[in-house]
Amino acid sequence: MSTQIDLVSITKAFGSGSNKAVAVDDVSVAINPGELFFLLGPSGCGKTTLLRMIAGFIEPTNGIIQFDSKDVTNTPPNQRNTGMVFQSYALWPHMTVEQNVAFGLSIRKVPQDQRRRAVLEALEAVRMADYAGRKPTQLSGGQQQRVALARALVIRPQVLLLDEPLSNLDAKLRIELRSEIRRICKTAGLTTVYVTHDQKEALSMADRIAIMRDGHIQQVGSPRELYREPKSRFVASFLGETNFIEAKVDSIDDAGRVMLLTAAGKFLARPSRKNTPLARDQRVLCSIRPESIHLVEMNEAGALPGKRLESTYLGEIAQHQVRLGQQETGQVLAVSELNPPADHLGTSHTQVGIMINPDDVVILPMMRADRS
Ligand code: ADP
Ligand code: MG
Repeated sequence: MSTQIDLVSITKAFGSGSNKAVAVDDVSVAINPGELFFLLGPSGCGKTTLLRMIAGFIEPTNGIIQFDSKDVTNTPPNQRNTGMVFQSYALWPHMTVEQNVAFGLSIRKVPQDQRRRAVLEALEAVRMADYAGRKPTQLSGGQQQRVALARALVIRPQVLLLDEPLSNLDAKLRIELRSEIRRICKTAGLTTVYVTHDQKEALSMADRIAIMRDGHIQQVGSPRELYREPKSRFVASFLGETNFIEAKVDSIDDAGRVMLLTAAGKFLARPSRKNTPLARDQRVLCSIRPESIHLVEMNEAGALPGKRLESTYLGEIAQHQVRLGQQETGQVLAVSELNPPADHLGTSHTQVGIMINPDDVVILPMMRADRS
């Protein structure tokens, strides 16, 4: 049976008086049994602090932590049955792979024969059974991190906690281990909390992601929800690349289609119903992904005028810098185009039409800080 984790109004402040720093600020979230749940955010936003509170290494200043509705807020780490993997592998250099993985079992006084079987199973789960007799120095970084994972799994934890486990690995291994870790967590049905600052890692692996900033959770959702329906400028810009265009609501029709007015002209949006209600003349900020903009012939109906400034060819896609409107001062948009035709490449300063897919326009309320 997998474990449900409930975090209820968790706050952690370090220091006191003028040195007081709030690392985690009133965080509440329910993590489902068997879920691969990500904490994603920039460095210093409180991810590690929150993870260590779930593990029991740090006590919250306020709030309650529950595993399957049982209050574990004051339960010491060794009685929570969590497995943890860190950025640095922290294997014992003088021990073999097998001895490293068995270590947690020997301090738990698991009998020898059971220990051997459990170690072998854990090493098989991470595909390292053939390396049981080696020392950590005889392994690559990726293999060492697999062993660290086996060491966390061998105690059959209720909850697996991972803190930037792939950050020390090179790009190729990182990508390889993403699907490997997901497979292991899903096969074992483990409730997993995974900390990273790498949005690609989170998007490609997570069931759900909590985006953190300054100790707060900004938004929780599936990778697709967060990418397609960010609720704030921060979330829209943290996950993937986007263009922000300031606009004014020109009209709204009965079908909920919104005509938006910018300095360069009008364009249509068909925002999802989850967005905040809009009023005529309201100033809004639109988030539009580079792949939601298409370059068409200038003067095509419904297109905004623009000028293609520069293009970078990357094989299956081209990335274009396109200036919006006819003024030299117009905003420069990032546009990506799948299977670019030859005449869409090079530096050419040609006039183009800019077509924006109405279903892909995210309309955000304009905050004071967003005004340019
Ligand atoms: P992240 O893992 O997202 O990079 P951390 O949880 O490590 O962030 O840190 C969040 C904030 O709390 C940072 O500003 C950090 O400096 C502060 N912090 C973390 N641990 C301590 C500590 N032991 N004492 C004082 N401040 C700390
Ligand atoms: Mg950290």
